[in-house]
Amino acid sequence: MLKGRVAIVTGSTSGIGLGIARALAAEGCDIMLNGFGDPCEIEKIRAGIEKELAVTALYNGADLSKGEQCAQLVADAQKRLGKVDILVNNAGIQHVSPVESFPVERWDAIIALNLCSAFHTIRAALPGMQARGWGRIVNISSVHGLVASVNKAAYVSAKHGLLGLTKVVALENAGKGITCNAICPGWVLTPLVQKQIEMKAEKQAVSLQQAERDLLIEKEPSGTFTSIEEIGAIAVFLCSNAAQNMTGIPIANDGGWTAQ
Ligand code: NAD
Repeated sequence: MLKGRVAIVTGSTSGIGLGIARALAAEGCDIMLNGFGDPCEIEKIRAGIEKELAVTALYNGADLSKGEQCAQLVADAQKRLGKVDILVNNAGIQHVSPVESFPVERWDAIIALNLCSAFHTIRAALPGMQARGWGRIVNISSVHGLVASVNKAAYVSAKHGLLGLTKVVALENAGKGITCNAICPGWVLTPLVQKQIEMKAEKQAVSLQQAERDLLIEKEPSGTFTSIEEIGAIAVFLCSNAAQNMTGIPIANDGGWTAQ
């Protein structure tokens, strides 16, 4: 369905980003991977996508907490893959602490990566999309773009901000063949959430399994995680013709979290 398209997926060396990169590649999309990690592992991922899914997969290790590196990532994809049709802003980090003791450096880092990087990549990718009259921008926000939780000031602020950016980009490009939407997952079992489960188990002196059950049931009536494959399928849908008139919206995949 997406043969001939080129996608950048930020933060795609792990978790949700990797799931989305694989899902887009499975539809025939050439992919620019990005993110941190062990170089041998990243090369294995990259080569695996090329071999299994018969697309071109490249890697750029830009640190997206730095604005100029966001623009360089887009320029590198345009140079090596010819263009950027699909931009998935997924890279993100978390830190949990009450506001009064929230480390200023963590606040700055979360806002820079989870919010500002999307502005910088979108700004760099839009002119090419506008010139070709086709583009899909998918921002990975969170249920925390729609509602708040305690101890997540920077994350909740960044994810709400990302939904605002999504709407503005959608409006500015409406009618130009370019859509901009957000996916708002609840709990997805990735390294980012595993860390929170481990912290919860330690704090409450319970097993990891108990901490996992508690974490889910506190927020999600479904009591189950969303999988990275399910998020990948939503991203593919947003890039499909069926979604050509969907723009500026958040899609929550959260087991009923925000319905309460
Ligand atoms: P993850 O930790 O598995 O992956 C994060 C990715 O971002 C990794 O590839 C990492 O290398 C990359 N990254 C980190 N710092 C970077 C930087 N400075 N520059 C470039 N890349 C960087 O996390 P995940 O759970 O897959 O989260 C992905 C996105 O989904 C995040 O934006 C997160 O907020 C969002 N999200 C996750 C959940 C969940 O339950 N896991 C729920 C809602 C939203």
